[in-house]
Amino acid sequence: MQGNRTFTMIKPDAVENNYIGAILDKINAGGFVIKAMKFTQLSKQDAEQFYAIHKERPFYGELVEYMSSGPIVAAILEKDSAVADFRTLIGATNPAEAAEGTIRKLYAKDISANAIHGSDSDENAQIEGRFFFSEREIH
Ligand code: UDP
Ligand code: MG
Repeated sequence: MQGNRTFTMIKPDAVENNYIGAILDKINAGGFVIKAMKFTQLSKQDAEQFYAIHKERPFYGELVEYMSSGPIVAAILEKDSAVADFRTLIGATNPAEAAEGTIRKLYAKDISANAIHGSDSDENAQIEGRFFFSEREIH
């Protein structure tokens, strides 16, 4: 996963609202190839670990509760400049500020339940992908 891979989760609000298909269409239309994917649910402990970097932020408790509240889809995606291009495709953290046509603008509920995750660096893409997928599942 160097330069050409990123990690995503379709978050509980988007799964609940039956947006998995529409979001995967946007991801493929954006030129991303799905390299690994699973439908799963985070335990509270998983969510605490995944978002440990945000431990000191005021929204951490709410974020952990929310991300473990229902099923998600986790995936590893491939494309040139995957991390940056995927952040562009998903839009700003707050859907009210997200650009027209972005996944968050189209499908997110609010700044917390914002439909989708995208890694913020190549290093984190690799760490996050390995959090969900074993070596055997990553090709
Ligand atoms: N979040 C929140 N309130 C905030 C900022 C972020 O609930 O004020 C949640 C939101 O789900 C976001 C996640 O915490 O996607 C991680 O925050 P980050 O700043 O990394 O945003 P992202 O990289 O997802 O755009
Ligand atoms: Mg982030």
